[in-house]
Amino acid sequence: MIDLKTFEVWFITGSQNLYGEETLKQVATHSQHIAEGLNNAGNIPVRVVYKPVVKSTDEIYTTLQEANITPNCIGIITWMHTFSPAKMWIRGLNILQKPMLHLHTQYNRDIPWSSIDMDFMNLNQSAHGDREFGFMVSRLRKNRKVVVGHWQDTEVLSQIEGWTRAAAGWYDWQGAKFARFGDNMRFVAVTDGDKVEAESKFGFSVNTYGIGDLVEVINNISEADVTALTDEYETTYTMDASLKKGGDNYSSVYEAAKIELGLRKFLQDGGFKGFTDTFEDLHGMVQLPGIAAQRLMADGYGFAGEGDWKTTALVRAFKVMGSGLAGGNAFMEDYTYHFDPDNQLVLGSHMLEIDASLANGKAALEVHPLGIGGKADPTRLVFNVAAGNALNASLIDMGNRFRLLINEVEAVEVQNDLPNLPVARVLWKPLPDMKTGCAAWIYAGGAHHTAYSQNLTAEQLQDFADMAGIEFLRIGKGTTIEQFRNELRWNEVAYR
Ligand code: MN
Repeated sequence: MIDLKTFEVWFITGSQNLYGEETLKQVATHSQHIAEGLNNAGNIPVRVVYKPVVKSTDEIYTTLQEANITPNCIGIITWMHTFSPAKMWIRGLNILQKPMLHLHTQYNRDIPWSSIDMDFMNLNQSAHGDREFGFMVSRLRKNRKVVVGHWQDTEVLSQIEGWTRAAAGWYDWQGAKFARFGDNMRFVAVTDGDKVEAESKFGFSVNTYGIGDLVEVINNISEADVTALTDEYETTYTMDASLKKGGDNYSSVYEAAKIELGLRKFLQDGGFKGFTDTFEDLHGMVQLPGIAAQRLMADGYGFAGEGDWKTTALVRAFKVMGSGLAGGNAFMEDYTYHFDPDNQLVLGSHMLEIDASLANGKAALEVHPLGIGGKADPTRLVFNVAAGNALNASLIDMGNRFRLLINEVEAVEVQNDLPNLPVARVLWKPLPDMKTGCAAWIYAGGAHHTAYSQNLTAEQLQDFADMAGIEFLRIGKGTTIEQFRNELRWNEVAYR
């Protein structure tokens, strides 16, 4: 659903006129060659667009200004093949609004030992040219990503890939609209926050819509459309005969399908990239949306329950960032613990709404009562989630700043049958271990709701937080409580 090839990053090489035409021609050829190389490497999900070498204050300013206003340009990659005196970069960098990656590379991988002369030295100067540029970016206090190594190196390519994915998620947030049906779940703190500050910091807006407006759209969905969707359910999921057309409980599935179509239409018509709802405000709805939320998430919409708009937005960003990769990105909640000393685990789940893109194998469509909300029994998909490396991320409002907190985890196979558990579930071990992981999370004020990712990395989320200019904290391998608490204490000063 989300095609990253519509996005581009600009490859901008800095130099200066001092070198003369012949050298500058070589700089341009090398630069084009590198841009092509990045495009052909196969892993970078966006297009890398070569831009003519910039050699003066005006050229730099004009190029960066164009990057700002060009739709679908999600960021720039800069490289100083030669020396590019960095006072020339001040005006341009001061107005640059798109994320920047500084690629500290060199055209030649190796020093040509037997032929190297001063001409070669004067052409291949990034070792010092990039330092001059780096000084100016630091001096101007601009966030950027620095990647070091030869441009064909696989680690370099994977770092560039990760950054372009973060930039795509960031770009997608700019102007994004998220719909909130009802308010926050009553009295809950961590899922709430400052929507005005969020819009100013992150670029997306969250606005409330009356549940009645949604109900009206749902009620106008045609019977033919609903039946077509329940047919699709029957071919896609394992279902008890009583839930199939003609069965005693088919009406529950029918209502769920109607809700899905209504929600989908509401989101499409309004140009929304995600939504949140709450079981405390379902006036006129027959069921709490279960399967509807699960399937909409699988199609790329952001979602979180109980009015949690921050996690909704984060889930959406993760979906854009992970687009095209194996594995899923999903709304999650830390639900229950297994404190067996030899095998400590967290069971992650939600009342209903676990993203269908996480299903390991064919999901079962089931209808069960829900203990809260006082509505008809909701329809949901039940499945296990695969083992493997993953992470949980929480975006929290600390009052004077937003904090992006992540915990790397190791998901494990669900080995036991859980015949009485009517929801999708994941089992994971927090890193570095259960006690440290959970304690650090709680010290940092992390939420019970998270965006759960099977295919994004801590480094990408650090890049993403840098683009947003917010605090980033990682709990994972190597974390100790002592060090982590110090980090929290010092960050209080850094963000004062
Ligand atoms: Mn919840």
